[in-house]
Amino acid sequence: MTAPKLPGHPHIAYRGNELFVEGVRLSDLAREYGTPLFVYSKAAMLAALAAYQRGFAGRQAQICYAMKANSSLGVLQVFTQAGCGFDIVSGGELERVLAAGGDAKKVIFSGVGKTRTEMRRALEAGIGCFNVESEAELEVLNEVALAMKRRAPISIRVNPNVDPKTHPYISTGLKGNKFGIAHERTLATYQRAAALPGLQVVGIDCHIGSQITQEDPYLDAMDRVLDLVEAIEAAGIPLHHIDFGGGLGIDYNGDTPPAADALWAKLLAKLDARGFGSRQLMIEPGRSLVGNAGVCLTEVLYLKPGEQKNFCIVDAAMNDLPRPAMYEAYHQILPLAPRTGEAPMWDVVGPICESGDWLGRERTLAVQPGDLLGVLSAGAYCMSMASNYNTRGRAAEVLVDGARAHLIRQRESVADQIRGEQLVG
Ligand SMILES: *Cc1c(COP(=O)(O)O)cnc(C)c1O
Repeated sequence: MTAPKLPGHPHIAYRGNELFVEGVRLSDLAREYGTPLFVYSKAAMLAALAAYQRGFAGRQAQICYAMKANSSLGVLQVFTQAGCGFDIVSGGELERVLAAGGDAKKVIFSGVGKTRTEMRRALEAGIGCFNVESEAELEVLNEVALAMKRRAPISIRVNPNVDPKTHPYISTGLKGNKFGIAHERTLATYQRAAALPGLQVVGIDCHIGSQITQEDPYLDAMDRVLDLVEAIEAAGIPLHHIDFGGGLGIDYNGDTPPAADALWAKLLAKLDARGFGSRQLMIEPGRSLVGNAGVCLTEVLYLKPGEQKNFCIVDAAMNDLPRPAMYEAYHQILPLAPRTGEAPMWDVVGPICESGDWLGRERTLAVQPGDLLGVLSAGAYCMSMASNYNTRGRAAEVLVDGARAHLIRQRESVADQIRGEQLVG
């Protein structure tokens, strides 16, 4: 078999017959750290970030990495050192930003269910902005801020009601979604916010969904948001920044999302045309910064050929890579050292006791037990969604930087898992 080229993954490539991330041979990492193992390319993350930075050259723009895509400290460190802020969705994520050396002033706090405790902690830390998602949340945040003798900087997340044309579970900007304030309620909500003494209105925010592969939803959402900005400012409420959220897709399986710089060239042309070109801009990309920087390494445990299906049972599972089970998502699966010979069709499945525990269906692979496979596009929404189901410890993680590999998370032990549990008596 000739080793395939990996067009969507410039930092992951076969050299001879072995798969490498940057200058590091993946089978060496699997041997050293065991499997399942997540491996991330620092160069791939920085290249993905650079596409946005090129797009915003000469503009006032803050990139806030939406860290729920991958919140490991070693990954956050890469982005904070590159000047990014962070979009967080919980108090736990704020603590991670601070632990990674991030700047609280560059943190924006999204999410529909912020607790009073989380609000207090975020105010104490001095975050840049709360993205408020409901009228009820406005009132609570106002109370919390007043009790602390503070003013909470806020923007309101508006729901532009555009279809991002993605999976329904990751579509967030339609009327039937739980996110944001309905377009029609926006002005009234801003007027209420402006009247509350514990709040300071600083911006407006939207985020329409995830794994978006077309430009139109972004252009439409921008028009809808700018209409609102005009109406809000006409009512005497100035907005310092406009936050266009995240959501740009990546190439999992021949998907062709626009490049970040090309997309922003179009969006900035629209902003310029509508007279908002010099406004402070914010964006919240997650998946597009880390998704294709990651590979999950796994070992083939057993082959189980059958009458209807052949199963290739590997040591990674839905607790490590939840996206196939959750969204029937596709991840490319490649041998770390392709072998010649017969390549039958396999369903690649994990050891978990659920029929939903599959990583890839109907994959042609020449494999034998003991072989190592790489599950690609595993940098986003994999480790950060990993669980301990079946009392499986979460995988270890390695960050590759050129020829060097840094362990950024140890494999979770059973002792780690049961810490905090106790018997009755
Ligand atoms: C998840 C999320 C993002 C990032 O989405 P991606 O598709 O990973 O870019 C940005 N903003 C908010 C509010 C989110 O919830």
